[in-house]
Amino acid sequence: MPLLEDKDRIFQNLYGQDDWGLEGAKKRGIWIDTKDLVALGREEIVNRMKDSGLRGRGGAGFPAGIKWSFMPKEDPSRPSYLVVNADESEPGSCKDREIMRNDPHTLIEGCLIAGFAMGAHTAYIYIRGEYYLESTRLEAAIEQARADGLLGDDACGSGWAFDVHVHRGAGAYICGEETALLESLEGKKGQPRLKPPFPAACGLYGCPTTVTNVETVAVSPTILRRGPDWWKQFGRENNTGTKIFSISGHVNKPCNVEEAMSIPLRELIEKHAGGVRGGWDNLLAVIPGGSSVPMLPKHVCDTMTMDFDALREAGSGLGTAAVIVMDKSTDVVEAICRLSHFYQHESCGQCTPCREGTGWMFRLMQRMVRGEADVEEIDMLWDVTKQVEGHTICALGDAAAWPIQGLIRNFRPELERRINEYKQSRQAAE
Ligand code: NAD
Ligand code: SF4
Repeated sequence: MPLLEDKDRIFQNLYGQDDWGLEGAKKRGIWIDTKDLVALGREEIVNRMKDSGLRGRGGAGFPAGIKWSFMPKEDPSRPSYLVVNADESEPGSCKDREIMRNDPHTLIEGCLIAGFAMGAHTAYIYIRGEYYLESTRLEAAIEQARADGLLGDDACGSGWAFDVHVHRGAGAYICGEETALLESLEGKKGQPRLKPPFPAACGLYGCPTTVTNVETVAVSPTILRRGPDWWKQFGRENNTGTKIFSISGHVNKPCNVEEAMSIPLRELIEKHAGGVRGGWDNLLAVIPGGSSVPMLPKHVCDTMTMDFDALREAGSGLGTAAVIVMDKSTDVVEAICRLSHFYQHESCGQCTPCREGTGWMFRLMQRMVRGEADVEEIDMLWDVTKQVEGHTICALGDAAAWPIQGLIRNFRPELERRINEYKQSRQAAE
């Protein structure tokens, strides 16, 4: 399996070393033949995207071409919309930020291609409010594209009218959930809707809509340009292409890097992030895909490859590919407790298992941190996670449950040690 060479990287300005504006973008090959890509036609674009096997880069990994194909072919009664999910809020994830900050034209060109393929004349980019610099960059890049005729009534001379608008969120994690995002975009309180109907049937203002992640949209013109076979040479079947990994935590050089899918985790960390602090043997655990997926202990990390299927089989997930590295100095119970607090805080509160369950889980986790729980409460905590998992309107409930399940599955002796130590210290004091 080939790893990426510099020439293969789609995001040639990920680190902002070059001009982010239109002139720099054109030098990097963006907007060069966009009219020809549009001329392929809707069906051909969707077929090529299906053939590439690109899976959504926002976390769930749903096949992008299939998702695009859900949009109606003809519906004169309702407009279709493309909505780009740029509400990147997953703890550990900061890849979309770099795309929008340093290579915004990859996203805007992608909006035109994806929007055209979906029959949409309008795209909204919903960006997290804290990404102020990135939202101003996007606005400026959109203005440049409009002034150059790349967007507008005859975008790129393609005959397709297309425009892009930026909408800033106001700091709620739940607005990254696609239907909560649509509610927020409509000016309402950001709370998830029941699915189905999926947005392709009933999305923004009740119209056909595809909500999709920044990276997914931004890579699509290059996939079309270089061809699905080029894309498929990276990674492996069902896990194709390149991917931006955000590597943080106890590494020597935290970074974002575009690499081939299915790269071994150890190679990823050692080649790009300067290795684990204190060496690989000092590794305790890794959360491989943003805070919503269970952690992996070191012995699993030793041989882990970074793709959707391998990580699912290992009991975790690729998620947003935000790799959070924890060395042996980490208080792993405290770390997961901190995440529990995050999910309790961010729960929108509309369904009972999540509203009450996240509170229960956090309170039990606090007891685990102090060691003042009974050993039986570990099983009770596990049961609470099972009462929440799969019983909620949106994936936040699962996301709150899974890190705790990962902790109990992999670090139960550590929980028991704390509880026994606390008991002994109480007995000694009496
Ligand atoms: P999901 O599996 O419900 O949906 C994924 C996408 O596929 C959605 O766009 C959905 O509309 C579409 N889809 C799924 N089944 C469909 C069907 N039968 N018909 C039509 N469309 C269908 O997952 P989700 O709740 O959208 O996302 C969960 C993931 O989000 C988690 O795995 C997590 O990693 C990730 N996440 C990302 C961030 C971030 O900052 N990027 C934040 C939180 C969570
Ligand atoms: Fe809201 Fe939580 Fe229910 Fe999602 S699972 S809708 S965040 S209460």
